[in-house]
Amino acid sequence: MEPIVIIGSGMAGYGLLRELRKLDRETPVTVITADEGAAYAKPSLSNALATGKTPEQLANQTAEQIGASLNAQVLTHTRVIRIDIAARQVETDRGSVPYSRLVLALGAYPIAHGVAGAAAGKILSVNDLGDYTRFRAALAGKKKVAILGGGLIGCEFANDLAAAGYEAAVVHLGPYPLERMLPAPIAQRLSEALAEAGVAWHFGRRAVSAETAGGSIALKLDDGSVIAADVVLSAIGLRPRMALAQAAGVKTGRGIVVDRLLQTSVAGIYAMGDCAEVEGWVLPYVQPLLQQARALAATLAGIPTPVNYPAMPVVVKTPVLPLTVAPPAPNQPGQWHTEMEAACMVARFKDEQGNLQGFVLCGQAPALRSALTKQMPPVLG
Ligand SMILES: Cc1cc2nc3c(=O)[nH]c(=O)nc-3n(C[C@H](O)[C@H](O)[C@H](O)COP(=O)(O)OP(=O)(O)OC[C@H]3O[C@@H](n4cnc5c(N)ncnc54)[C@H](O)[C@@H]3O)c2cc1C
Repeated sequence: MEPIVIIGSGMAGYGLLRELRKLDRETPVTVITADEGAAYAKPSLSNALATGKTPEQLANQTAEQIGASLNAQVLTHTRVIRIDIAARQVETDRGSVPYSRLVLALGAYPIAHGVAGAAAGKILSVNDLGDYTRFRAALAGKKKVAILGGGLIGCEFANDLAAAGYEAAVVHLGPYPLERMLPAPIAQRLSEALAEAGVAWHFGRRAVSAETAGGSIALKLDDGSVIAADVVLSAIGLRPRMALAQAAGVKTGRGIVVDRLLQTSVAGIYAMGDCAEVEGWVLPYVQPLLQQARALAATLAGIPTPVNYPAMPVVVKTPVLPLTVAPPAPNQPGQWHTEMEAACMVARFKDEQGNLQGFVLCGQAPALRSALTKQMPPVLG
């Protein structure tokens, strides 16, 4: 029997394998991954300095251990270069692998920073354990870090670096950090809290060039000012990996388009995790991929199971001002109302009928968080 082939050993690919093995120990499964296949929690990459973890300590299991414990073949350092739909096989840089069903769990790639200059090639991004190992090596013995992008990941790294004693500067095009997710009063509070922790903000600015200056990097901004940095980290966002699907004629949009069964436009080929667009939603977070893993495992085990998305608040790992964010759906009409409650700042996004359609909670208030989450409508019910 040809195996179920999963491309990708991230939280999506391995999450699916784990869920599938709860239902079916026997069907052959092959995981193909371009990296070393270690299992790790990717969110830990942006708070590992504060939690005192080295890159090696972040890896929970090797590919070999995963394969042995979950009865799967894991092909590491193997890149899929083409999907041959007619022959039901994938072609890799190490040969062809036939499949009975194929799951694309390809993740997302960092958006190109577009910075010019001789030192532009030194700008790092952190989207996997290998990147993170290089980032930590670059930090060794250094002090000043410039971060491009004050979104979720940029803010988390800024907080982590500042807490670990680095001088962090953030170059952000918007007027506040995370301005697409947060109402202005809370975004402003976050920027103040990070500034108090030592983070230098450059709002409304973009980096245009990076030049070598002695042992460091001179990062020039679009107003002509220059930031001296030992390390520059780009955190300007990620895009779903779609090239393999596109080349094979699988339908794509903002991600690889799938239905509620997570099936693509081609029968027997599924997509999940950061690369997938589920009924218009591209949600590059852990909770959606866990929902997908449970549903798709059941489908692959013979019980067609549509994925459901309850309200899935995201925790922003900025200990200077911990945030829980459940953004309203794009284009949802309504307004933010911000107030203090139980010593926490809470913003509620309410529609015209007064129903809660989104919220942001500052601080640690688990009871309030769970009460707010319960009032939220499901994302995909
Ligand atoms: C720094 C950081 C912090 C984060 N913090 C949070 C958080 O606090 N909470 C939260 O919910 N989410 C967080 N996220 C997002 C979350 O980690 C991701 O949504 C999730 O890890 C994505 O998993 P994935 O398996 O879809 O993709 P990935 O982990 O990117 O896995 C993709 C896999 O596909 C493989 N691959 C790709 N192309 C090929 C190919 N052609 N051939 C073979 N293999 C291939 C790769 O090698 C990799 O194994 C964070 C993300 C980052 C980067």
